[in-house]
Amino acid sequence: MDPELLMERCLELARNAASSAAPNPLVGAVLAQGGRILAEGWHHAAGLPHAEVECLRAFGDGPVPADALLAVNLEPCAHHGRTPPCADLLIARGVRRVAIAHADPFPLVAGRGIDRLRAVGVVVELGVREAEARWTNRRFLTSIAKGRPYIVLKWARSADGFLDRHPREGRGVQRISTPATDVLVHRWRSEEQAVLVGGRTVANDDPALTLRHVSGRQPLRVVLDRSGAAPSGSKVFDGSAPTLLFTGNHRVGVNAEQVQVPPTGDPLQVVLDTLHGKGVRSLLVEGGAELLGHFLHRGPWDEARVITGSALFGAGTRAPLLPMPAVRAFTSAQDRIEFHLNGATTEDAWCW
Ligand SMILES: [Zn+2]
Repeated sequence: MDPELLMERCLELARNAASSAAPNPLVGAVLAQGGRILAEGWHHAAGLPHAEVECLRAFGDGPVPADALLAVNLEPCAHHGRTPPCADLLIARGVRRVAIAHADPFPLVAGRGIDRLRAVGVVVELGVREAEARWTNRRFLTSIAKGRPYIVLKWARSADGFLDRHPREGRGVQRISTPATDVLVHRWRSEEQAVLVGGRTVANDDPALTLRHVSGRQPLRVVLDRSGAAPSGSKVFDGSAPTLLFTGNHRVGVNAEQVQVPPTGDPLQVVLDTLHGKGVRSLLVEGGAELLGHFLHRGPWDEARVITGSALFGAGTRAPLLPMPAVRAFTSAQDRIEFHLNGATTEDAWCW
């Protein structure tokens, strides 16, 4: 069977763990002989078996046919972590042909798995559907290469380009998108390890930042509130989910882990360094205008997702404008949803 086709299936399987694998990468494995798939597996979560182990378990104890091909989107591991090395398992089980999308940049692996396979005569084809595989694992790869989380900016704007309506009628989220789009936004939340808002957004909108409408993992709630604008009784401080507060001064009576940031200078580096130190590979920035602008103009960012609703606000806070065209766009109910990439080529944007 065509290795490209098998790799496509690997990536499909890998994405089953989009809300659970992090901080580990998304990995799928397929064992095939001729035109037939013999077994499949994927890595579900940290501490659970790797994709290759799942796949060979699904295959069973019988001998692996000599002409069988095992496809896996990430280089098999060569180090003793929580599980024995997968490269050794493949060799022990008699796998003779392996297709891999790309090497594992993780310093403990980094080519050693491929070397070990080739050293005993296993035929390794490297680079199969590499661009699509790198896109699938952009969070993991960015985190390893850049020492910071992969950053997704997200905002919703009215049809006339405002983030919110002025004057406000009390505290609370101003609805822009339709319920169908809300489900999508919550799926996005489930796929990132942390979600960040500024203190003023907490003061104005009082968002819960919890996962609703979909099943999946609740991300870490992160609030950057150097000036102490967010009231102690806000929903983000209700203790219903892990919360991290970056604050200028220690706050009493808030249900959150606190990290103090210097009163002057750029606090984003402290935020990104702290999250990286906690193993957070991806961050969804949900507002407000000042924080989004900070990322867009000064801080790093990787991806922006912009929802344009059908309502007209007339006056309010202007939504940010992006200089680059969208790489993807579609319509969900009455909302238009656009994806923008910072720096990456459109060819990398294979799938969402
Ligand atoms: Zn492994």
